[in-house]
Amino acid sequence: MSDCLFCKIGGGEIPVGKVHDDGEIFAIRDINPQAPVHILVIPHRHIATILDFSPQDHALVGRIYDVAARIACEQGFDRNGYRVVANCNSDAGQTVFHVHFHLLAGRAMQWPPG
Ligand code: 5GP
Ligand code: ZN
Repeated sequence: MSDCLFCKIGGGEIPVGKVHDDGEIFAIRDINPQAPVHILVIPHRHIATILDFSPQDHALVGRIYDVAARIACEQGFDRNGYRVVANCNSDAGQTVFHVHFHLLAGRAMQWPPG
């Protein structure tokens, strides 16, 4: 989608150092980190919200969690733990309408979240 921030980043139109890119899913560091580690795991294909996943996307969603786990192991925060969060629409605070999963780590997390 031409006017989408994460399509532009994924496609290289806006250059950023990627943590991961396998052609289907990429990961970047969040510009406004909420934890010592705050990485966004993002499918290249434009999907507006997690409500818009279809049954054909189930493998993609599983792969997003695989990529998050791989990054956690590579960066060494798998044992201490991490959180994966996807915000959907306004009450959850979604601001970028291209599906992305926040991977947060490096500090003890609160529950319930704010
Ligand atoms: P949301 O609020 O939609 O769940 O998450 C969007 C996230 O994208 C926010 O955490 C925000 O800090 C991040 N973000 C917004 N613009 C940029 C950008 O240009 N580059 C990067 N790396 N992250 C961004
Ligand atoms: Zn997009």
